[in-house]
Amino acid sequence: MDLEKLIRDRIRDIADYPKPGVVFKDITPLLSDHVAFAGAVDSIVNHYGRGTIDHIVGIEARGFILAAPVAYHFGAGFVPVRKKGKLPSRTYEETYDLEYGTETIEMHVDAFGPGDRVLIVDDVLATGGTARAAADLVRRAGAEVVGLSVLIELSFLHGRDKLGNLDVHSLVTV
Ligand code: AMP
Repeated sequence: MDLEKLIRDRIRDIADYPKPGVVFKDITPLLSDHVAFAGAVDSIVNHYGRGTIDHIVGIEARGFILAAPVAYHFGAGFVPVRKKGKLPSRTYEETYDLEYGTETIEMHVDAFGPGDRVLIVDDVLATGGTARAAADLVRRAGAEVVGLSVLIELSFLHGRDKLGNLDVHSLVTV
């Protein structure tokens, strides 16, 4: 079975959502196909190898859906990165630019132990601002960012250029 083709086939393009000019990558068909969903999770784990990662960081909200089973399969803990104001304890925050305006994300200050090895997981890498801010949060908390895994990389937006020499692992590139 060609897993990359299956994953590609299960990602639906929604034109002009959430606003005109944007092609939204809808992963709900992939999530509802147990072979595609499990295959995506397994290929992230296989890329890095069980036992090499201490914590998986998932980015709100679709990143959570992928990051939790990835964490389970790695034998790693799960740490949420959330939009500002959602986490209950003390946080670090990072603000970054969107096309219009800014976004602020947060992570608990005590999420990791010193030197923990962390993999960040999200559904889409677009301009890279979200991933960059998440990586900065992890580093501020004293952990090492081993890589970023995404289902879909929108290569025409050059998001990986914002991420320095971070290992970017994408299952599908468009
Ligand atoms: P960016 O910070 O530009 O890399 O955007 C990445 C974040 O926005 C991810 O958390 C995605 O869930 C979401 N995102 C950006 N562009 C898209 C898209 N075309 N389709 C679906 N989600 C997107």
